[in-house]
Amino acid sequence: MVNEGLIKDPKSFITPVPHHSWVKGKENSDYLENRYKALKEHFMFDTIEFTREIAKMKEWFPLMMHGRTEDEVMAGSRIDRGTEMNYGSLTEQLYAILEKEYNTKILFNTEVEDIDPDTDIEWLLKMQDRKTGKKATVDAEHVFIGAGGGSLLLLQKVEIEEKDGYGGFPVSGEWLVCKNRDIIEQHNAKVYSKAGVGDPPMSVPHLDTRYINGKRELLFGPFAGFSPKFLKEGSFLDLLNSIHLDNIPSMWGVFWHNLPLTKYLIEQVAMSFDDRMDSLRQFVKDAKNEDWEILVAGQRVQTIKKDEFEGGSLEFGTQLVSSKDGRVTCLLGASPGASTSVKIMLDVLEKAFPELTSTEKGKQQLAKMVPFYKKEVTKDLFDQELSRVTEILEL
Ligand SMILES: Cc1cc2nc3c(=O)[nH]c(=O)nc-3n(C[C@H](O)[C@H](O)[C@H](O)COP(=O)(O)OP(=O)(O)OC[C@H]3O[C@@H](n4cnc5c(N)ncnc54)[C@H](O)[C@@H]3O)c2cc1C
Repeated sequence: MVNEGLIKDPKSFITPVPHHSWVKGKENSDYLENRYKALKEHFMFDTIEFTREIAKMKEWFPLMMHGRTEDEVMAGSRIDRGTEMNYGSLTEQLYAILEKEYNTKILFNTEVEDIDPDTDIEWLLKMQDRKTGKKATVDAEHVFIGAGGGSLLLLQKVEIEEKDGYGGFPVSGEWLVCKNRDIIEQHNAKVYSKAGVGDPPMSVPHLDTRYINGKRELLFGPFAGFSPKFLKEGSFLDLLNSIHLDNIPSMWGVFWHNLPLTKYLIEQVAMSFDDRMDSLRQFVKDAKNEDWEILVAGQRVQTIKKDEFEGGSLEFGTQLVSSKDGRVTCLLGASPGASTSVKIMLDVLEKAFPELTSTEKGKQQLAKMVPFYKKEVTKDLFDQELSRVTEILEL
């Protein structure tokens, strides 16, 4: 899109920021070194660097090395070509392109309240304007439900048997956000450490440079909090409303078979501001309480699914639920991830619009848009695409 002049300035949504892993202690450092050696063998990661030297880490992420002594055992790895993406900005630009260039009608601030079968080939969406309260309907041959935490509640309203047994458990994502510009400017990196044993994968602590509205910011987290809402601006009744006869066995099964996770959540919710600052001090030894504040960044709805043996299972990945004929597809997942959205939408296309992914014309169009689609990615193809994209996106 940058090449075709649809997006004017790549800097509006993507900025180079190196990506690091960082661990403390001998055992973790040995693990990281082995991981580095394994990754370096692969052409996609052959530029990865590794160090156990504090002096090197001082160059990579100086803020985290304040007050460290040479006898502290730690290790880090770095991929220099990492980036920071502002998906909010990219999404706004994509919508504007759809409206202006492709004459697509987009409704904002409009709540989809129900999705009913209409004719044999159409669904009827009932909607309400969030500001004026005005009701409206729309007919659709295809419905894709991508409503974040709100997806489960909408899926439950669609009369398709594939929805049975799905439930959700909301967890808030909280972050420490730096308020001191001097400190923010001292860190230009994404530094991920290791999740605690038994903690869920999305709890990996990281000290993260972010560009928000063009300005560099610094976040540390995530911490889990509890609220029964499924969206940040949702209702306190969301959790209760999501419990139906068909998902009670899965929800109970998950609770019973995931007591360590329940323990993790209770411990997280019980953490005070000082406890959270202590976690940050594992990264930034001299972090001061007055320089940081805690913010709720978003709500995740952890997907619960029917399980033959345990009644229900807790899903950490993304679930694409679809009706047999592919006319309804729904994305469930606690944090499906902005960076996985292209892969997810290609899966949706395959299910909902097989004519696009199976015909010669469709395949050619997709190959133009996604050069790696259904291809074996060789070193030559990878290098060629990487340098092409690096140049176009001015990285
Ligand atoms: C602080 C933070 C950091 C993150 N960092 C990363 C990262 O580094 N990398 C990464 O890949 N991901 C990251 N994520 C996760 C990523 O942001 C989400 O996975 C992604 O935004 C999900 O996109 P989505 O479109 O599925 O849902 P959302 O972005 O939640 O959008 C859903 C939309 O649907 C609307 N909606 C809900 N119900 C209805 C309804 N009934 N009618 C109409 N509209 C409705 C909501 O208002 C919302 O606008 C991060 C998330 C947070 C909070």
